[in-house]
Amino acid sequence: QTQIAENVYAIGWVFTGIMEAVGASRKVFEYMEREPKIKNDGEFVPHFIYGKINFNNISFSYPTRPQTIVLDNVSFEVQLGRTVALVGPSGAGKSSIISLLEHFYEPSNGQILLDDNPINQIDHKLFHQKVSLVSQEPVLHDGTVRYNILYGCEEWATEEDMIEAAKLANIHDFIMESEKGYDTECGEKGVQMSGGQKQRIAIARALVRKPAVLILDEATSALDSESEHVIQEALANCVIGRSVIVIAHRLSTVEKADTIVVINKGKVIQTGDHKSLMQDIGGLYHSLVQRQLQTISEVDVAAAIERTD
Ligand code: ATP
Repeated sequence: QTQIAENVYAIGWVFTGIMEAVGASRKVFEYMEREPKIKNDGEFVPHFIYGKINFNNISFSYPTRPQTIVLDNVSFEVQLGRTVALVGPSGAGKSSIISLLEHFYEPSNGQILLDDNPINQIDHKLFHQKVSLVSQEPVLHDGTVRYNILYGCEEWATEEDMIEAAKLANIHDFIMESEKGYDTECGEKGVQMSGGQKQRIAIARALVRKPAVLILDEATSALDSESEHVIQEALANCVIGRSVIVIAHRLSTVEKADTIVVINKGKVIQTGDHKSLMQDIGGLYHSLVQRQLQTISEVDVAAAIERTD
């Protein structure tokens, strides 16, 4: 308990600034709607999920392209209540790591552990309740706001849980401004929401599950500054007390992460915090920072790696 309290405290101050715009949510429903490729879900129901994640020697190829190695012996740990930022050029394998963590695919080698238990042995529903994704550009379903927030956890989440999550996500007041409140229709047939409002619904959707692990897919494009500010606040509420793994595109995010895992061509090539990685002048992280973590060209990557070697 003390350890958790310490971590909660630590993450509270370490991450007050992380949300510099983690404009969350490209794939939230995309992920939710995808038929999981794995059918042999486990039945293990742990008493409590704390949220430590380990990738142990993970290699992976997509079933459609078995000859192409997308991840090659990837290992890293997300300690309880800490934040790990995944950084790397486009196509490096960051989203594939998240897909594996979401258990959409089985790795060809290695194991992914949640609190030291292989994720494929953990009860599927419980796992997806406790490991929650907020991605870049959420798509809202046709249906009410209530339906969109409670999607997948209607059976057990209460009205109070929903409202609490919406308040933390900074979207409750907006919802209550509509005549029908949580019964307002959204999606294509309903009220038009801005990108920022949709993101906050997606954040509420993640929070209602009270996840132990939060996966953030940081937006590459900026919202207007007012939306960004509101989302930053919402995400600050999200990360407190949980393990976080973020696909990071912003310098302000990685600077504050406990650990940065630099991925290139499916391999972990650097691990450390911002300060230590910046000392590796000429390393890929240093190059990425110089370019503010935006996508950099293959030529730049090759040059940076050559210098590192
Ligand atoms: P970005 O920052 O551009 O999103 P990324 O680091 O997230 O890139 P991934 O999307 O994980 O990289 O892609 C890693 C490799 O896997 C790429 O070569 C990509 O073409 C391939 N890939 C990604 N998704 C699939 C898929 N569904 N089927 C087959 N190959 C895929």
